[in-house]
Amino acid sequence: MNVILLGAPGAGKGTQGELLAERHGLRRISTGDLLREAVRNGTRLGLEAKRYMDAGELVPDDIILGLAREVLGASKENSAGEGGFLLDGFPRTRAQAEGLDRLLAELGLRLDAVIVIDVPNEILIKRLSGRRTCTRCGAVFNIYFDPPRTPGTCSVCGGPLEQRSDDEPDTIRRRLEVYQAQTEPLVQYYVDSGAVVRRIDGDRPVRDVFEDLTKALES
Ligand code: AMP
Repeated sequence: MNVILLGAPGAGKGTQGELLAERHGLRRISTGDLLREAVRNGTRLGLEAKRYMDAGELVPDDIILGLAREVLGASKENSAGEGGFLLDGFPRTRAQAEGLDRLLAELGLRLDAVIVIDVPNEILIKRLSGRRTCTRCGAVFNIYFDPPRTPGTCSVCGGPLEQRSDDEPDTIRRRLEVYQAQTEPLVQYYVDSGAVVRRIDGDRPVRDVFEDLTKALES
């Protein structure tokens, strides 16, 4: 099964994507995670991407499509037809969606579903501005909705918590604008292309959203 997960920053794509990937044996491909890894490793890709990410802007389509080609091509070779993939945070523009269509055709893969997680803007802002990540084990907390036992310290491993550099208020506002302008129109793009598109209310507890997502994928 090959699936695209669409949703604004903070809608829960990462959390739900990991749960879904585990439940359905899918390979989760998050361009945001791949870019952050490149930034941490100081690669050329990372250096190029960082200035866009810190400003809340999208990394240029040609860079993202190059990255997608690398990971999807490798994914196809490694998994030889089983499992499938779950795309989280890609595509984000019409050019990326068209590039993905071409890439899938080349690789002989097809898209089975597009799932959209909807969350109101005011909740997204709280989720993003309150997000804190453990620098040691990667556990994620939220100072409003799911605070750590001790502020600034991971309740899982005791490591220090940090705020993602693109979770600052101005950057958050910009990321949400960019989503509305460039990514939200992809829902219609996929409806028009005849794909199976399902919308899920993401403003609920993680478990309830996950149940709906699983039902949507199994139907
Ligand atoms: P995310 O973790 O998915 O919210 O991505 C964090 C940042 O990485 C975004 O704000 C963009 O700057 C960049 N990024 C991730 N995926 C893409 C993509 N498909 N196209 C362009 N930029 C991306």
